[in-house]
Amino acid sequence: MLAKDYQVISLSALVEARTKGESLPDNAVVITFDDGYASNYELAFPVLKEFGLHATIFVTTGFLDREEMFWFQRIDLALGRAKKELLDWKINGKKLRLYLGTYTLRQQSLTLLLPELKELPDADLLGEVARLEAALGVDEPGFDDLPAAMRPMTWEMACEMSFSGHVDIGGHTHTHPILSRCDTMAMRAEIATCRDRIHAETGELPTLFAYPNGSSDDFTRETLMLVREAGFKAACTTITGRVPDNVPMLQLPRYGSPESVWDAKATVSGAFETLKDWRQRYQKARAML
Ligand SMILES: [Zn+2]
Repeated sequence: MLAKDYQVISLSALVEARTKGESLPDNAVVITFDDGYASNYELAFPVLKEFGLHATIFVTTGFLDREEMFWFQRIDLALGRAKKELLDWKINGKKLRLYLGTYTLRQQSLTLLLPELKELPDADLLGEVARLEAALGVDEPGFDDLPAAMRPMTWEMACEMSFSGHVDIGGHTHTHPILSRCDTMAMRAEIATCRDRIHAETGELPTLFAYPNGSSDDFTRETLMLVREAGFKAACTTITGRVPDNVPMLQLPRYGSPESVWDAKATVSGAFETLKDWRQRYQKARAML
């Protein structure tokens, strides 16, 4: 659908055009992937090559180094392997009752737990994850415990994709902390280590970045400054929206992954935006009555 009806351009082409004040075709689309999963290589890369499309993949370098899996993967695995059906858990002054008996209940428990964990200062997060694993009676998992689709890509995969010309490798920090929950030193180290690991492995200095979690609460003015200082020219958020002419290059909006071709079509065609406009105009009109 994208290859047929749209003009897929690279994120760097978008940045270059915006920097020079050049216009882009109305149907231009940029494709990005976050985190650095092996499935980007196994599933997406063959499609990109087949249709001659370009994508940017933002990798978490410590994940590719297999130093540490994502903390949210550990939570997911821990709930799945728990030896009990129920756990009462105190966090952020709240009492959560986590039901674990079925897949659906575990998903609901995960939905309760993740936002609370995201509130914690980054320095406390892994300790809390370990305490939760202990309370659930499970060991810290290894990379082989991850389902195939959730495993990290290897650096060989990243290099092959980068050399192919179909993929740019961008930065997504070293260990995927929410940057607004880090102190300045940790934030600077996360951004610089990520840049240096990508440079060392691929030979390319990355110029594109994506903030972990990516909402407007997940980075600060200081984050923007440190990202720029590290040599990144543009950075993606997960704030939903199209890319207007005047958008700051370090706060690019994006749409989340569509779940069907119909969904993807509604997103890229602007149908979602039109609907949002109508709704806003309707609400404004109602408010004036
Ligand atoms: Zn991420």
